[in-house]
Amino acid sequence: MRAVIETDEGGTTKATILPPATVPEDDEARAWLEAQSLPPLVSMVLHGLSARCPVCGAGRLYAGYLRLVPRCSACKAPLGAVRADDAPPYFTIFITAHIIIALVVLSTRSSSLPIWSLIAMLVPLTLVVALLLLRPVKGATVGVMLSLGLIGAHRDGAD
Ligand SMILES: [Zn+2]
Repeated sequence: MRAVIETDEGGTTKATILPPATVPEDDEARAWLEAQSLPPLVSMVLHGLSARCPVCGAGRLYAGYLRLVPRCSACKAPLGAVRADDAPPYFTIFITAHIIIALVVLSTRSSSLPIWSLIAMLVPLTLVVALLLLRPVKGATVGVMLSLGLIGAHRDGAD
């Protein structure tokens, strides 16, 4: 977050918070996307799964654990304009739940472990699986969204 702090002649201080300068505007991002010939959807998903730019596969996708880089360092794709919101956590929970439920069913059928030991093993395993899946799932989601041209916060006609 950036802010501009100004003080006028009367001594009144005014602070203005500015949007991040490096994140491309929606219109700018759409214009970039429309001017490109994108790779096939499968290629974009595979690049996203490996935490690379879905468009070129060369630049990094993340600037942190889950924060997208504003622009790809290699092809200048406006990755910061893709707002995946709650989709990656939803898909991650969906996949993780299926893995953990399968393990619960298998472990209760094949062993006579007490329930507290299953909980002690499966709760940390659930967290680890979810945290490991979140980045590749978000990358794949960003790849699908870019392939479909889903950039920015508003849709056409939603204003
Ligand atoms: Zn790129």
